[in-house]
Amino acid sequence: MQEGRVNEGTEEYLRRLKSRGFRLTNQRRVIIETLLSNLGIHLNARELLELAQKDDPSIGIATIYRTIDLLNSLGMLNQVNLEEGFLRFEVPDEQMHFHIFCRSCGKTVHLPDEESRMSDVQGWAQDMGFELLPQTFEMAGLCKECREEGVLEPFEGASPAKCARRSRRKPRCRLMQ
Ligand SMILES: [Zn+2]
Ligand SMILES: [Zn+2]
Repeated sequence: MQEGRVNEGTEEYLRRLKSRGFRLTNQRRVIIETLLSNLGIHLNARELLELAQKDDPSIGIATIYRTIDLLNSLGMLNQVNLEEGFLRFEVPDEQMHFHIFCRSCGKTVHLPDEESRMSDVQGWAQDMGFELLPQTFEMAGLCKECREEGVLEPFEGASPAKCARRSRRKPRCRLMQ
């Protein structure tokens, strides 16, 4: 995101926090700025800490977790679970957001054409009497490269050595057209 838009986005975020009675500390501002200037990269708490500390070294991991919890409880931050044993975070969009990730190498992509799929999902929830909130969905799979390498899921009868590896590259969102 360009700097101007990051600033605008940060101000809007801070306005929303203030209107709900939360204090606008510099630490919160830096954390929000860091999230907004790293859109498309699903930062985890550690990565968020390292980046935020470049702007404000007084920020500690406890502040990161408190801020994440606060933003999450206000619907201002989505959690992304890529089955790594920790969560990653993403600033929500107006609309729903779909990821598919490789259970072996961790490659993560944003599914294209989300808008046209949304009505199906919304209708599905509405049939049960629910109105969906903006959120992200994660689906697990095996990518083409891993399948070609012969990585198999345990339920496919692979020997343990050939089961999905759990060593992960850093997942980044890429739009696959
Ligand atoms: Zn893979
Ligand atoms: Zn994403």
